[in-house]
Amino acid sequence: MSTSNIEGKTAVITGSTSGIGLGIATALAEAGANVLLNGLGDVDAIETTRKELDALGAGDVLYHPADMTRPDEIADMIACANRDLGGVDILVNNAGIQFVSAIEEFPTDKWDAIIAINLSSSFHTIRAAIPLMKTAGWGRIVNIASAHALIASPFKAAYVAAKHGVLGLTRTVSLEVAEENITVNAICPGYVKTPLVENQITDTAKVRGISEEEVVRDVILAAQPSKKFIEISELADLTLFLCSDGGASINGTALSVDGGWSAH
Ligand code: NAD
Repeated sequence: MSTSNIEGKTAVITGSTSGIGLGIATALAEAGANVLLNGLGDVDAIETTRKELDALGAGDVLYHPADMTRPDEIADMIACANRDLGGVDILVNNAGIQFVSAIEEFPTDKWDAIIAINLSSSFHTIRAAIPLMKTAGWGRIVNIASAHALIASPFKAAYVAAKHGVLGLTRTVSLEVAEENITVNAICPGYVKTPLVENQITDTAKVRGISEEEVVRDVILAAQPSKKFIEISELADLTLFLCSDGGASINGTALSVDGGWSAH
């Protein structure tokens, strides 16, 4: 796979201070893209990460602290990428949180936060980035959805609703920009061992009344026929492929990377 076309392009990756987003940002920086990092975390740790990524490739790496619950801050993040990094050619909507609870006890503030961060932030980034991509005559949008964009699990009402919504948004926008040399796709990972899942193991153990070992064996890896966690590098490689010339005709799809989970 040649990723030479990525060199000199500008990529915005939401939620890239940790986990999958950081892996994708690292791969794009290595491929020579300018990278705009975003996400929560310790300021000094983020600056260390920014410098490490900046040293990887030919492009510049900046950090923008936009909170994905704040449309005004999201608009400022996209404007910053356009002003300081020359545009937005690649947009990876990755920021996300999880909360596990039975529906009748599901806290309404958690519902609102998950819908805002996991779904509405992608609407705001895409809405602001599409005009820049149309002007440039090229664009790639990769939405990190989930197997839960296709399949439900109990106790995850907000997350499953948001991820199904991300897939609907993906398909809709892909049709609107199909003639513009812009593609919009959703990657649907199974379980990846990141902080998001590590916290979920603890919460799921409480809500189901079982041990953490039982959650990993009987809930998480039971759903995943490969019986293995997905590697962050596998998701980064797929993102690079979607951004390469080889990915030009892949549009409006849900790409499962789930060890066979959605084949059930
Ligand atoms: P993670 O917790 O390691 O990373 C989440 C990122 O989102 C962090 O950088 C965090 O700072 C950022 N974030 C959270 N709230 C934010 C806010 N309000 N504003 C800005 N940034 C915010 O989790 P991860 O597992 O790497 O998850 C990344 C994405 O992948 C999420 O959308 C998640 O739903 C999806 N996903 C994860 C898995 C998995 O098993 N880990 C599986 C399928 C899909």
